[in-house]
Amino acid sequence: MKSYKLPLIKFKNEEKANLAEVSRSERINSMPVRVTLATNKNCNLRCKLCGFSTKTQNLEKDRMKLDLIEIVSEELFSTAWEVVPSTFGEPLLYENFLDLIHLIGEYQCCIELYTNGMLLNEEISRKILPFLADLKVSFDAASKSVFENFRLNANYETIIRNITKFNELRKNFRYVPPPTITLQVTLARSNIKELPLLVKLASSIDIDRIAASHAYIFSQNLKSESLIFNRDLSDETMLEAYNISTKLNVNTFFPRPFNSDNQGTFHLFKAKTCAYLYKETWINANGDVHPCFLPDSPVMGNLHGKSFPEIWNGSIYRSMRKTVNDKKPFFSRCKNCPIRMQFDLHFTKGYNEKGFLLYETTKN
Ligand code: SF4
Repeated sequence: MKSYKLPLIKFKNEEKANLAEVSRSERINSMPVRVTLATNKNCNLRCKLCGFSTKTQNLEKDRMKLDLIEIVSEELFSTAWEVVPSTFGEPLLYENFLDLIHLIGEYQCCIELYTNGMLLNEEISRKILPFLADLKVSFDAASKSVFENFRLNANYETIIRNITKFNELRKNFRYVPPPTITLQVTLARSNIKELPLLVKLASSIDIDRIAASHAYIFSQNLKSESLIFNRDLSDETMLEAYNISTKLNVNTFFPRPFNSDNQGTFHLFKAKTCAYLYKETWINANGDVHPCFLPDSPVMGNLHGKSFPEIWNGSIYRSMRKTVNDKKPFFSRCKNCPIRMQFDLHFTKGYNEKGFLLYETTKN
């Protein structure tokens, strides 16, 4: 009989990463626990607020080559738990997606799949299910008209049908925990009122959780979409949605409110620093390594010239770790980090506009 060995190396690595994060050391002896690969910036949708996918035709440049995937898997997958195949474009459009899944399986990692759900047919669902930890479907409204206005080229019924089929398939797992399903919501002025309805929808189609975060605004024309200018409306609606979620047993990962000390329902960062600098990394199609997904985040090094451990403990990562809480951090955006504003209990500076208006630079 084939024996199943728990990947102890991954447990030990995570333990060391936790210690490094708490002690906020500059040089660390663990590797990232979660690895995000910008495999593909192409997308089949044209969402109103998206500033991440490629809207030009330079698709070849933005597609990760298989040889880079192999380098990344050799260097990072044996210690990582999770691999995220793109948070930029639609990962199911990536031509080497199944090769990547194969490597993820070989190294006993699991996938967190962010998808718009349009291409999640039964065939691909069956292929990814054994490796999936969480299916995150970007889903910004409960009503068809608001949804399709927000997510241009999407079809509401197709996505609901795909989620429903996926849900049926995941229930066939009896001996291992089946993957969870999350509706991933970008909160903005034109969809905030949908949030309570989304909780009800999630409950009706048996979704485990709703994870929401505020929209990052990439163009001045869309500035009025930021809820930072509609704070009361945002807080009141989020509270209403939260109250419904507790009755319907839907988990919520909501950001902290704007106007109170209430800490929200989800804390991504727990150790008075940016956890990403200790536990996660983002790798671009050209091999550039970034500390987070913000589009102007610095390049820490390139995997075609250096090994990942050299970059991970190189001078840029060390400077980032050292200065992340300073008045003049190495990456100026860390001072007004939009992710820490929302999900870090210890980020006491609170919300400010600079965090969300990404078209503005945050020079010190
Ligand atoms: S901008 Fe925020 S998420 Fe990115 S490295 Fe700085 S603190 Fe971390």
